[in-house]
Amino acid sequence: MIEAIGVIGGGQLGRMLALVAKRMGYRVVVLDPQPHSPCGQVADEQIVAAYGDRVAIEELGRRTQIVTYEFENIAIGSVEHLERNGYRVTPASSVLRVTQDRIAEKAFLRACAMPTTEFAVVERAEDLDGALAITGLPAVMKTARGGYDGKGQWRAASRADANDALRDAGGAALIVERAVDFACELSVVAVRASDDEVVAFPVAENVHEDGILMTTIAPARIGDDVASRAQELARVVGRRLGIVGTYCVEFFLTRDGELLANEIAPRPHNSGHFTIDVTPCSQYEQHVRAICGLPLSRPRMFSCAVMTNVLGDGRGDRLGGVAELLADPSIVLHVYGKRHAVARRKMGHFTMLVDGPIDDATLRRAHAARAKLFWS
Ligand code: AMP
Repeated sequence: MIEAIGVIGGGQLGRMLALVAKRMGYRVVVLDPQPHSPCGQVADEQIVAAYGDRVAIEELGRRTQIVTYEFENIAIGSVEHLERNGYRVTPASSVLRVTQDRIAEKAFLRACAMPTTEFAVVERAEDLDGALAITGLPAVMKTARGGYDGKGQWRAASRADANDALRDAGGAALIVERAVDFACELSVVAVRASDDEVVAFPVAENVHEDGILMTTIAPARIGDDVASRAQELARVVGRRLGIVGTYCVEFFLTRDGELLANEIAPRPHNSGHFTIDVTPCSQYEQHVRAICGLPLSRPRMFSCAVMTNVLGDGRGDRLGGVAELLADPSIVLHVYGKRHAVARRKMGHFTMLVDGPIDDATLRRAHAARAKLFWS
């Protein structure tokens, strides 16, 4: 019987996971190198240790009955260590092996017959010409490992840009992709249970700025046929990965209606935050259910939603304008408890509940709401 859940990673995703796990009666133990992490503030216990610390990881396994993680750039060796020593950990290391490396991830998507943008691998400087011959220009170059929120990513409009990116990458293996001139970006948050049942949330539409998610519109403003296709592709990914838990598949929708799979996150996702406020069972609760062997809930939305990330800007750590923001009764605010509002750091988000379809006026309202918040 599961009484305690271990979480590797103490960020906001872990915090929202812990909050729901606590509501469901579980104890939560988190492992994160930073004391008083966002998740540690709401968990029962925090083990303060590096993700690669085998002794600490094993302690997490000992104190809990199931271990999960809230971000994927943890040392795969830690997850394997738990598995080898008989601790239950989900998603399994075999999932991380695919999703931690963009090259393995794209190869996996191809093996699932999933459409993707053209891509090529650059392991040495000599590979660049051949890669660009496949992708053409403009291209997007990404480090195979460790990048997130636009970090480790370069846009190359010319061969000179590509050379600069190669130099900045400092010898790290890269994936080069044809830059997609997309109509919009979409994501599907889905959940797979150990009995192979998969449920998918309504498709979300995402707006990124400088590679970082800023706004999610749910449901996406797309036709039912595209939405069903995206959900079906996400189901295929979950089944082929054999993942147990919540995961997300990100897509580009091209101007001629083609869906290109871009990335898989083997965990709850920023574009699924809206599920906390407008569905009966959020992506976090679904994750807890899946990893604890409980039935999944069929996703449905009480209301449409616009989710807006609140980023730090380096000007101060105190969030102002909250009363002004919340004067709009359709807005729900989530703040993650991070001490320093470093520029571009995800500090919180808010969800605007919207009756009826989301139009440009709604998005302007969400934008104006965000402008009320400031750091000092
Ligand atoms: P990723 O880390 O792959 O999710 O990339 C972050 C963001 O960069 C995406 O959400 C897109 O906005 C942009 N991006 C990444 N790859 C491409 C691409 N091949 N073509 C166009 N935009 C891209």
